[in-house]
Amino acid sequence: MIIKKDQEIIKSYFEDVSNLKGGHATEVVFPENAGELSVILKEASAKKTPVTISGGGTSTTGSRIPFGGIVVSMEKMNRIHDISEGSMTAKVQAGVTVDSLKDACDKKGLFYTSHPTERSAFVGGTVATNASGSRSFKYGPTRVWVKRLKMILSSGETLDLGRGERTLTRKDPVVKLDNGREIRITLPTYSMPGTKSSAGYFAKDGMDLIDLFIGQEGTLSVITDIELGLVRKPEDIFSCFVFFKKEEDSWEFADEARRISEADPGKGALSIEYFSGNALGILKAKNANVPAGAMGAIFFEEEIRPGYELAAADRWLKVISRHNASSEDTWVAMNEKEAKDFTELRHMIPESVNEIVKQIGYQKFSTDIAVPEDRFLEIMRFYKETFDKGGIDNVMFGHIGECHVHTNLLPRSEEELARSREMVIALIKKGVSMGGTVSAEHGIGKTKHKYLEIMYGPQGVLEMARLKKAIDPACILGLDNIFPRELLKCA
Ligand SMILES: Cc1cc2nc3c(=O)[nH]c(=O)nc-3n(C[C@H](O)[C@H](O)[C@H](O)COP(=O)(O)OP(=O)(O)OC[C@H]3O[C@@H](n4cnc5c(N)ncnc54)[C@H](O)[C@@H]3O)c2cc1C
Repeated sequence: MIIKKDQEIIKSYFEDVSNLKGGHATEVVFPENAGELSVILKEASAKKTPVTISGGGTSTTGSRIPFGGIVVSMEKMNRIHDISEGSMTAKVQAGVTVDSLKDACDKKGLFYTSHPTERSAFVGGTVATNASGSRSFKYGPTRVWVKRLKMILSSGETLDLGRGERTLTRKDPVVKLDNGREIRITLPTYSMPGTKSSAGYFAKDGMDLIDLFIGQEGTLSVITDIELGLVRKPEDIFSCFVFFKKEEDSWEFADEARRISEADPGKGALSIEYFSGNALGILKAKNANVPAGAMGAIFFEEEIRPGYELAAADRWLKVISRHNASSEDTWVAMNEKEAKDFTELRHMIPESVNEIVKQIGYQKFSTDIAVPEDRFLEIMRFYKETFDKGGIDNVMFGHIGECHVHTNLLPRSEEELARSREMVIALIKKGVSMGGTVSAEHGIGKTKHKYLEIMYGPQGVLEMARLKKAIDPACILGLDNIFPRELLKCA
């Protein structure tokens, strides 16, 4: 097992794309198997040394940044055990990147549906954050595809959990470990929103126990092995960029595209993604063909059978024209290369925003709110009003098909920073009042504690801390993720 202590070498583990500063740890440990990991955790528990688990380091919330103790990097546990066409499953170690999993599936004509647009994320990281991505519109978030998890708790004991094997009820909330030891927990009492959500622990009466460990942000266990469900690779993907002169038209197009897709999934979209006028400004700097004067765009994909491109184009153009755009405002990918260019263009937005934030040097304020479908147009109008009044640089993009758009405020001074903070709180309160979530996919990490409290109240957050302490009594795993460590009241 490699252990690195040279601060110059390990300092990259004290960063992610949140721009959160001040991370520190004494060493980074690279276990190569579950046995080594178990020893590390047992020792850390005995000495009460905090342990932060690091995946690909692509979190936007500071969740893999350590504030004390040691870092456990999963990068050496990167074996793909098996990809089975028969059972349509992949069995992998947690340190496999999304990129390598997707490539390996591709070679077998299979498709891993749920992934963040950032392919350098580790599969373990995506499970720990319940990540989703553009194609979650059709296929749902990571949670839906997790069939089995092998994990190690902070005590060094193991937990092997298959979906459907154990139910957790309020009456009998017991986590039974592989060695037979039982941990009694108390299930939090909050009600989760009806939207997709990665905000705090999944908790409801009668839930599958495996769901507690998906989206736990490295606070309950270290995930070592994962079994995931796969689908057959689509024969062909029809993809389109549609540019609108008025942003409201782009929102209404997205609303109709979603309704059509839900009514007939066979002919529905695979993804429906949004770019605000400012996001298009960023794209224009990279691609001169982006039409001048476009105030919003929607990128969407549909799985089709080869030869059905024209039929799909015809069907979608009718919808596009109902929302004041035309074939001249529409790019259609004519081959695989163009389709790939489109997805790369989509990916360029969050990357470019992160680059801009680094250049400006101030923290960005972003939201990850999703709201119920019937409140979608209302929240879009609220975002626009708030940003128009605020006058701070902003960019919006994301998974509009799931009523989930990332808003990003890019302050350039201390005064703008303070105002951005207030504006984001106003957006969060609005989203929550509509029955939405404060985090649809990125998690809470270390930067969004306040938002979680707005959603579940201080009592809900306290209940999460109590649950964590029951499973990690030494209070070493993922400290300050989801809630501040002080709530644990550990010695
Ligand atoms: C350009 C860009 C685009 C993005 N787009 C999306 C998107 O579309 N959808 C989306 O959901 N996210 C997106 N993200 C965010 C990010 O990619 C996801 O949150 C991803 O799941 C993080 O995975 P990671 O391996 O990088 O985890 P890390 O950042 O290393 O860690 C994230 C959390 O998971 C925990 N963790 C990691 N591995 C384990 C393990 N084996 N066991 C237990 N806990 C573990 C860590 O402790 C930490 O709490 C994007 C990020 C970037 C930079």
